[in-house]
Amino acid sequence: MTADTLAPPAPPTENPQVAQARREALAAMRPPSKMGIICIDITNKCDLGCSNCTRLLVNQDKLWDMTPENFRAALRSLEGYPGTIAIIGGNPCMHPKFAQLCRIFVEEVPDKRQRGLWTNNVFKHAEISKETFGVFNLNPHNSKRGVASLAPLKDLGWYYEGHSDHSSLLAAVQDLYEPAEMWERIGRCDINQNWSASIVQVRGELKAYFCEVAASFDLARGGTHGKDVVPGWWRAPFAAFHDQVDRFCPGCGVPAKVKGHLDHEEIDTYSRTNADLAEKSAVKKKRKVQEVDRATFQSVEEKPVTLYSPNLYRKGPPIFVVTPYHTESLDMLRRCHDSVMAQQVEANVTHIMVADGHARPEIDAWNVIHIRLPREHGDNGNTPRAVGSVVAQTNGAEYIAFLDADNWYYPEHLASLLEGQRQTGASVLCAWRDFYDPQGRRLAMTEVDEDNLTHVDTSCLMLHSSVFELTEIWSRMPKKLSPVCDRIFYFGVRHRKYMSGFTRKRTVGFTTLYTSHYNSLGLPVPANGKAIPLDDIMAYLTSVEGVRETVNRLGFWPLSV
Ligand code: SF4
Repeated sequence: MTADTLAPPAPPTENPQVAQARREALAAMRPPSKMGIICIDITNKCDLGCSNCTRLLVNQDKLWDMTPENFRAALRSLEGYPGTIAIIGGNPCMHPKFAQLCRIFVEEVPDKRQRGLWTNNVFKHAEISKETFGVFNLNPHNSKRGVASLAPLKDLGWYYEGHSDHSSLLAAVQDLYEPAEMWERIGRCDINQNWSASIVQVRGELKAYFCEVAASFDLARGGTHGKDVVPGWWRAPFAAFHDQVDRFCPGCGVPAKVKGHLDHEEIDTYSRTNADLAEKSAVKKKRKVQEVDRATFQSVEEKPVTLYSPNLYRKGPPIFVVTPYHTESLDMLRRCHDSVMAQQVEANVTHIMVADGHARPEIDAWNVIHIRLPREHGDNGNTPRAVGSVVAQTNGAEYIAFLDADNWYYPEHLASLLEGQRQTGASVLCAWRDFYDPQGRRLAMTEVDEDNLTHVDTSCLMLHSSVFELTEIWSRMPKKLSPVCDRIFYFGVRHRKYMSGFTRKRTVGFTTLYTSHYNSLGLPVPANGKAIPLDDIMAYLTSVEGVRETVNRLGFWPLSV
């Protein structure tokens, strides 16, 4: 083994094209504060030894368990983080103090919906897991014992029973691509775009990494290049993690998308940069390893590395979520998109984002169908909703749901709507909202019409294919009614006497700018607060023109429904 096989930080480059590619990659990547999940690795023990494991478990020299004190400190460092905090390992259920850690989790993070468990086998911990966690990522890797242990939990979250197809972690992108392309690939890395930062324990100390795989590489090489786990570390701007990107990403296999092996084959695919780690698995652990280089590697370009099972998101009905967007910030759009991607539902979920005249090129790199309308329409998203609905139908949608760009789904949203459909047979599925101010603070309010089931917000709706003709309402609605488009849409549902099914669960985060909401709470109205022009709308609806136009275009007069 020579020193040059140990992955060094990427050398500073003088080549302007490469420097530009690196700058663009860093600008496209997500800091921990923008991720929907942050992991805490509580142990590196695991009862399996999968090929190309993201934790590089077989490449680590010693077994370790996070201490309860460190676990509490890790949780406290995440105070204020709004997403899911997931414990993982190894298999977290192999931690000898798993029950104690569960108690600490409940004490430190009161909202169950934020507490996640990622595991392949819960052993005897099914009951305490059910009580403790609100988010599950369960993958027994086709192990009979794992499947049996997860049976009581499998309907509560993501569950995939079969073997997983892991892309290579150790076939370094820097060995297989020229530097500019390497950076372009790093900038759209599946793990950074879709998964998590993590906190691990290194020689008794907590360390934080912008990326869970970067943490694995450091653990495998005995490094200590994580950030100190101080309160709020996750809020740091991405510039604070650039040193980690330079150190870990070029030597990482995720952006190279090299064909790997099924989990049970226990074969690690590597390239020259990671020969030291491959040697550890081959010599010390007697695992099979397979070297690739530019001439021999096989690409799996079409498969996100995180899609570890060919069937994972293809089971269940195709659901298309349509989001119109206008001039919302990229952060807001990302929150909206991430919430769609994080749905815990047995369905094939596709997100369609439709730009109403202000397309954001960054969205091209996301896992969406991105439609650009060349100019804005000023109709509260009705035109983009109509266009998105047509595209959903021509792409085989069985359900169409809607989500406005400033709102977001909770992880169980689509699953609870589907369950509502199964229980009631309704074709129009409806949820309730939690209300938030533009800073993301929850407001202590509900809406009476919503609670009384007479009003459904657009972001709470999902339609079965049997009622897709309703989507015409978006394009046929007179523009003057667009400030109350959701009410008009729901009048259309009632006019046609389609059956609605209500989950009566608050599974949508709704950002309100309505002055009436703030006035009713005695709170200051945000700078961009808005009021519905009800007088104008009523004047229009009660005019001859309004009656004629609504009947001609919609087939009904809203005030008669
Ligand atoms: S370390 Fe690997 S997985 Fe993590 S962001 Fe960098 S390229 Fe992606």
